[in-house]
Amino acid sequence: MSATPVVEVAHLRKTYGEKVAVDDVSFAVQPGEIFGILGPNGAGKTTTVECLAGLRQADGGTTRVLGVDTQADPGAVRGLLGVQLQESALHDKITVGEAVRLFASFYPRPADVGELLDLLDLAQHQGVQYAKLSGGQKQRLSIALALVGDPRVAVLDELTTGLDPQARRNTWDLVERVRSRGVTILLVTHFMEEAERLCDRLVVIDGGRVVAAGTPPELIDGIDDTRTVQLRLPEADAARGREVLARLAASHADVHSVADAGGVTAVTGTRRVLFAVVPALADADVLPDDVRTVSRTLEDVFVAVTGRTYDPDAAGTRAVRTADGAGRRRELTSTADRGDRS
Ligand code: ATP
Repeated sequence: MSATPVVEVAHLRKTYGEKVAVDDVSFAVQPGEIFGILGPNGAGKTTTVECLAGLRQADGGTTRVLGVDTQADPGAVRGLLGVQLQESALHDKITVGEAVRLFASFYPRPADVGELLDLLDLAQHQGVQYAKLSGGQKQRLSIALALVGDPRVAVLDELTTGLDPQARRNTWDLVERVRSRGVTILLVTHFMEEAERLCDRLVVIDGGRVVAAGTPPELIDGIDDTRTVQLRLPEADAARGREVLARLAASHADVHSVADAGGVTAVTGTRRVLFAVVPALADADVLPDDVRTVSRTLEDVFVAVTGRTYDPDAAGTRAVRTADGAGRRRELTSTADRGDRS
């Protein structure tokens, strides 16, 4: 990772009146990476990329794309950075082919329109009007429009919001296809799964600040050493099984706690918790109907660093326990505090 960064954001700060939307955000994106900016709604992701694209004047810090200072020279970044911002506003009657050719005409050296339509599986929909496209096709068109200037870097903002799971997965494949053509991608998302699946590295932003940065495995491995095993005990032996596990939690260094909910017994402990649970149940001749280890995700990282649960579909994160696990609860800001962007 010693190449010159394609994108550099250093100590970026942006306020809207009293509201601090972005507060000292820094990160660098290397050539060929899919780099994620992940965070709940209202975290400051869009403001960050709008400053990077020279669409907003920052209050402090620097933003560079391929060495160009985008705050000082917003015009110079146009051909370098393709931006797919949320909700592209196209006329209902414009066809796919017309839209792509129209946008291509804005650039001195546009991408090959035919190739672009092929890449995005839009060639067969060239004659279809915008209003008649499905959600997934509209998103693919908006990505095409971001790429039509043949940029070295593309910003894709919330590109799978509103798509069904299949269309979302198709779009992920597409993003990888775009990257394999040499485009560096800055992916803005509030979907944990999307970030985990696609991003080489990412920053997690919350309340305008970077709260975690790294590769998904680094972030996940960095949170703590706790592991959970979930068991479904057979009805006839459930009481005995729970007794065995409760004794284990009281006596075994690798087993910290046991909890029951909805017919599932969750045993939490160290990385070696499974080694303790299975022999103890075997000794008692309790054969679970189901055993699974719970994999940790970026969602656990978010909880660990912010002390709050993460709800991608809600307007913000929900009230939850604090990071120290003390069980205190607090309400969180959501998009309710959003001002008028226009
Ligand atoms: P979303 O995914 O909902 O767009 P985000 O993480 O991209 O969220 P931003 O849109 O950058 O977040 O907003 C960051 C904060 O700044 C939010 O509290 C938002 O309400 C506020 N904000 C954004 N634009 C404006 C504006 N033009 N005027 C006032 N406040 C704004």
